[in-house]
Amino acid sequence: MATHTLVIIGHGMVAQRLLERLSEQTVRPYSRIVVLSGEPAVAYNRIQLSAWLAGDADPDSLTLKPAAWFLKHGILLRQGDPVVRVDPNTRQVHTEQGHTEAYDHLVLATGSRSARLGLDGEDLDGVVGFRDLRDTQKLIDISQRNRRAVVIGGGFLGLEAAEGLRHRGMAVTLLHRSSHLLNRQLDTVGGALLKEILSARGLTIQTDTAPRALLGSQRVRAVQLTDETLISTDLVVVAAGITPNTELAQAAGLACDRAICVDHRLQTSDPSIYALGECCQVDDQTFGLVDPGYQQANVLAQVLSGSLLDATYIPAIVPTRLKISGIPIYSCGQTRPDDATESVVWQDYSSNRYCRLLIRHQRLTGAVLFGETRDGPWYAEHIQQGTDITDWRTNLAFGPAYCETPA
Ligand SMILES: Cc1cc2nc3c(=O)[nH]c(=O)nc-3n(C[C@H](O)[C@H](O)[C@H](O)COP(=O)(O)OP(=O)(O)OC[C@H]3O[C@@H](n4cnc5c(N)ncnc54)[C@H](O)[C@@H]3O)c2cc1C
Repeated sequence: MATHTLVIIGHGMVAQRLLERLSEQTVRPYSRIVVLSGEPAVAYNRIQLSAWLAGDADPDSLTLKPAAWFLKHGILLRQGDPVVRVDPNTRQVHTEQGHTEAYDHLVLATGSRSARLGLDGEDLDGVVGFRDLRDTQKLIDISQRNRRAVVIGGGFLGLEAAEGLRHRGMAVTLLHRSSHLLNRQLDTVGGALLKEILSARGLTIQTDTAPRALLGSQRVRAVQLTDETLISTDLVVVAAGITPNTELAQAAGLACDRAICVDHRLQTSDPSIYALGECCQVDDQTFGLVDPGYQQANVLAQVLSGSLLDATYIPAIVPTRLKISGIPIYSCGQTRPDDATESVVWQDYSSNRYCRLLIRHQRLTGAVLFGETRDGPWYAEHIQQGTDITDWRTNLAFGPAYCETPA
């Protein structure tokens, strides 16, 4: 057995996947694995925070692996003690509580945090992000004592926060800067459909709207919009994007751009240090979904264990699967038509189902599926493979059953 120490900073979903993949390797590359987590809990399913907020999941059910799993695999966990400094010269990391850990290899899996708006009033009580267990507990506590909430951001996080708080009995106003909801995943028709359904369920949704300031003396009391309108509120949820946690890497002198720069083996500019998940950047791509992080974890486990010498991570077109308030949504590749694309569109008005397929030079470049998403992975496969769809074109909207059946 090797006598090497691997230290991992951050214990989110992607770090946990890396630990699982490492534990499956036939050769154990490290005699000691230490995980240093800033959060007080063992890795949990962050995606399920939305379900907990909506009252559909218990916080205990979010835990990914029990303590016994870490014992069995000889993994040491140190929780609630964030790392404050990485010293690449001595190969040591230092925690807030004064603990020092030496490493042979270091993995940064520090994820990201809610992006700040840069507005006056953002530090008032009652202004909360939606990222971790603590935020979610805070939102639940506030919802039990108050009635009005404003959510800033109409991406999937904002929508899930808004729907969760509505389920808890709050009157929720959602503000979105863009002209339609989920503008990264949906086209204008899909976004408008979503707005109509969620408005009918009781959300107040304002698109093309931006906040100017958050007002209050100690607690937030109102949101002022750029057109001077005031919206009274007891709670503001900031869900307008994420910022990768790069501060440790920057201070250690590692190359960073929008996130921590890594090569296709997930190695940073220091050969002993790797990064993966939402804190890393490959080429010019950063990540905000868990699937690319999982793919990176598979590759990094092979790189660290030496089980596949040429293991590389190549960013792929990643489909987005979402369920907003029970409505399934699937999108992949290009979502909005342009001058070079043709569209195949179908819509069932009575059941709120909608599909747009984008085609360029007889190849699928994008798919937006709303309400019925069963065929999403099939479309994604053909987008990723650049399949020539000439033979199927007339049946394309009806999915694989009508395209792949032999004549
Ligand atoms: C409410 C919600 C719903 C979501 N829904 C979806 C979804 O439906 N589909 C999807 O694909 N993705 C979804 N996501 C995104 C998904 O959760 C992330 O892509 C994924 O968790 C990223 O994993 P990660 O391990 O890179 O980072 P994280 O999960 O953020 O983990 C990073 C960890 O590192 C810790 N850390 C940071 N700095 C330090 C330090 N200095 N010292 C020690 N520890 C540190 C952090 O506290 C954190 O625990 C959702 C996210 C949220 C918040």
